[in-house]
Amino acid sequence: MSGLNIASSQVLPTDSVPIDSADSVPYLYCQQFNTLYTQIREQSILPDSARATFGRILSGLHQRYRSNNDFPADTVSESGRARVAMWFPLKGYSGRAIGGSHGEGYRGKGFDLFDYKVRGSHPAQDIFIHDKNQDSVDDLTGKPVDVLAMSEGLVLAIETGWKPVHEYRGGNWIWIYDPVRNGLFYYAHNNLVTVTMGDWVRAGQKIAEVGRSGFNAYQTRSPTHLHLMYLQLETSGLPHPQNTYAWLLSAKRE
Ligand SMILES: [Zn+2]
Repeated sequence: MSGLNIASSQVLPTDSVPIDSADSVPYLYCQQFNTLYTQIREQSILPDSARATFGRILSGLHQRYRSNNDFPADTVSESGRARVAMWFPLKGYSGRAIGGSHGEGYRGKGFDLFDYKVRGSHPAQDIFIHDKNQDSVDDLTGKPVDVLAMSEGLVLAIETGWKPVHEYRGGNWIWIYDPVRNGLFYYAHNNLVTVTMGDWVRAGQKIAEVGRSGFNAYQTRSPTHLHLMYLQLETSGLPHPQNTYAWLLSAKRE
């Protein structure tokens, strides 16, 4: 129920680079990614140029995190990379909350991350909460629903300034780069984002609260949900949407 539109109300003061970290390099990639996204949304960059810049940023990140020693992790996969089990991204919910009866909400065909004008695909799963009165509070618990990181990674970009007057569709979104899988997770329509650019998050860590931000998600016809997308990156850094349905069904839950 969302396209991939980007806005960035983020101000990026240079003094916000963590001082204690030897890790200013990842933060610079975050800034580049964020700038590129604004350009794509504003259509101030041609799709081919956006694609090239994106590839350069993401292949740079891939290099930065090429060793297991470059980031914390606790198991080793068949490929030799350390990794931890994935977590279901909505606390207190399960695969039954995924839209459709067997994940058919995913439509990857025709997706183009770099051309803002391209519409019609939905390379994502929507996961719904109990919220009949659409106040972004769970009807059963009386509390907001936490969005959890499915896997560990670097918070590459966030948006926190969405307002109903804005037309962009993703609302308050989060991009997380997973260096083990060399992919990008995108969590959209959040009410509240609780991480910031450059943060390292662990699988299962709270990153947001579910909301209705985004041009379409805000409409009353849209039940409250998380829009979850995963983009698998080639070595060149170029992205291909991948269905997360199987991951969601086997993910860890509390
Ligand atoms: Zn969606």
